[in-house]
Amino acid sequence: MKFLNKVVEQLETPRDQRPLGSGWLSGSLALLAGLAGLLMVLLRWYPETLSYPEIAFIHENGIMTVVMRFVLLAGYALALLSLILSRRKSLGWAALAVTVVASLMATTQPDTAGAPPQSLYFGLDYFIINVLVVGFLFVPLERFFPARPEQTVFRQEWQEDMFYYLLSSMMVQILGFITLAPSNYVNAAVELDDVRAYIVALPFWVQVLVIMAATDFIQYWVHRAFHTFPFLWNFHAIHHSTKKMDWLAGARMHFAEIAILRSLTALPMFTLGFKPEAIQGYLLIVYFYSSFIHANIGWKFGWLERFFVSPRFHHWHHGSDRAAIDINYASHFPIYDWLFGTYRLPENEEWPENYGVVGDTVPRGYWKQFMYPFSAKFRKEPTDTPAE
Ligand SMILES: [Zn+2]
Ligand SMILES: [Zn+2]
Repeated sequence: MKFLNKVVEQLETPRDQRPLGSGWLSGSLALLAGLAGLLMVLLRWYPETLSYPEIAFIHENGIMTVVMRFVLLAGYALALLSLILSRRKSLGWAALAVTVVASLMATTQPDTAGAPPQSLYFGLDYFIINVLVVGFLFVPLERFFPARPEQTVFRQEWQEDMFYYLLSSMMVQILGFITLAPSNYVNAAVELDDVRAYIVALPFWVQVLVIMAATDFIQYWVHRAFHTFPFLWNFHAIHHSTKKMDWLAGARMHFAEIAILRSLTALPMFTLGFKPEAIQGYLLIVYFYSSFIHANIGWKFGWLERFFVSPRFHHWHHGSDRAAIDINYASHFPIYDWLFGTYRLPENEEWPENYGVVGDTVPRGYWKQFMYPFSAKFRKEPTDTPAE
């Protein structure tokens, strides 16, 4: 653990203390390459876990093996370069270790390869793949295009949010079951054959867009209800309690809210007769989109921002300034906020000052946050906030 702290410390070296030639860049890139190699090995071991038919070709024609070898080789070379250049060696050693482990794993193949996802270790490997896929995409984006350059990867309370991420990955099967329950009920109770025949005949991308529009319409009103009724707000306050926004921050959500939100928003998706490919396409989009809108990415979208929810749009939803309270509920299409009078997006690329809950009443730690809606015992004394 001490070693890990040193690695983190070295990764977070301030910009002015890591000039070119200090071994910081080569070390960071080596670590990225090692992790990327590890990810590719895992994808090869568990092709079923990410079994989107659209990417099956990656496994089939050997491109993956060539790329993987190249990436691991780059990992070795960069780690050695960093070890030569840097006074502090933790980063270089960590990168080398990850690359070695990935290379060793690449030469073997477990018996479970190709087995269906039921063989997952209680979702733990699903979590690892999740973090590697999503983190590997967003951490570099947040470093290169930050909305807040001063914020570090290992920001305040990141361990808490990583734990939320772990739990929701591990409960993916239970959540799937809960999510499907209301849809199964509707499917059994309501006759929708005409609608289904019409929808299944639509082109793939139209189906995906219709799913996005329908789920976001429901999401808008459920989300608004969570902000409107005090009993529901106490659940949703957990999601809003994060004071630093990044790709991981969206994972913080009370279990009851996840269950309610998902099962209701999934209703149109599973009852209106969409093709399974369209549903998978939508899930793939949401998988990245929900991290994206929380991410510390400062891209300027101009007029596009009026049509699709951007990080800046959702960051305003999380703002604790008075002007940012109870606005921007949509998670895909801002048009719902515009239609129902809750749209607010300051011009000139402005970002909110602070994030969090007014009064800062949500305690730290998973268990206390889980209990927060049920008992006042678990609420912190309200403090003065900069919201006034
Ligand atoms: Zn909210
Ligand atoms: Zn959010």
